Amino acid sequence: MLCILCGKEEATHGRLCKNCLASTISLNIPEFMDITLCPKCGSIMVGKSWYRGEIIPRIAKALKKLIILNNPTFRLDISSVSEDIENATVGAHLEVYHNETLLMEQDITIKLKITRNSCPTCNRVSGSYYESILQVRTFSHEVTEVINEIENFSTKFIENIEGGSPTSFISKIVHQREGVDIFLGKRSDALKLSKMIMDRYFSNLKVSKSLAGMKEGSEIYRYTYSIRIFNLNLGSIIESRSQKFIVTGIHPQSLHVIDPKNMNRTVLKRSDVFDENWKIIDPSGNLKKFIVLSSSNGESEVMDTVTFKTHTVKLVTEKKEVDLILIDNNIILPQ
Ligand SMILES: [Zn+2]
Ligand SMILES: [Zn+2]
Repeated sequence: MLCILCGKEEATHGRLCKNCLASTISLNIPEFMDITLCPKCGSIMVGKSWYRGEIIPRIAKALKKLIILNNPTFRLDISSVSEDIENATVGAHLEVYHNETLLMEQDITIKLKITRNSCPTCNRVSGSYYESILQVRTFSHEVTEVINEIENFSTKFIENIEGGSPTSFISKIVHQREGVDIFLGKRSDALKLSKMIMDRYFSNLKVSKSLAGMKEGSEIYRYTYSIRIFNLNLGSIIESRSQKFIVTGIHPQSLHVIDPKNMNRTVLKRSDVFDENWKIIDPSGNLKKFIVLSSSNGESEVMDTVTFKTHTVKLVTEKKEVDLILIDNNIILPQ
């Protein structure tokens, strides 16, 4: 059978000859290819990832995505890729196949649009790049152990994901009189860390953003994740609107308190604690160790380990020692 297009050659590909099939190929080759070059270390960003060293395979892969072939039954092979950063060009040899038959070959040169921008690794060394700040503060406005705890687990958390994501890094840590500021290369890392802190500590999060500049015509924001942690101990005394409360339980979602005047218990939410003005009357905590002498019928006989005074408390325990809140000779059970 002859080709239905030219009517001269033998139809070898369906109802067409090889030349007529080749004439149906249309390749859409872009004029430019965007890459970002780090002027400090020579790394190159193609697509969304940074590469160091062998970049030819990356460029070949990116070219394959950029060049559009009209017919999906044809196959595009790209070989002999070369780049010339100085002259801002990239060259390649293209071959279009139908099954195993080579239909067409073409050498192309595409101009490179090179943006010079320092890469995450270099930014991190200079400490200048960050998308977000995790600002850790305490309820008492002081640096206490909890600040170190959070700094340590944040550092470990980022180190562990760093291998999988080069954009995850801490660009700097600044110790402030009131807490610590952790500058993060990736915004979502600050959010992840904030969630982890909220799950572990009775704390409150406020997010704010500020304009950091413009990039390709759109505004770039930096985000501050400001987290405040309730850092007082059980038995500490706080006051709001002239009403005193003793802290009897600290949980990630709630704070349990007792009014020492009438011994009424209340559960406070995050907003009750962090959006109100509180005075800290006694931050030391009044938690004391007691030895359990006996425990039965819903009660225990306990002895103060300092004064050897004994008390009866509504508590059943198998422990030999318990921590209880002791204020003005009154014992309060933690919750
Ligand atoms: Zn033909
Ligand atoms: Zn670099």
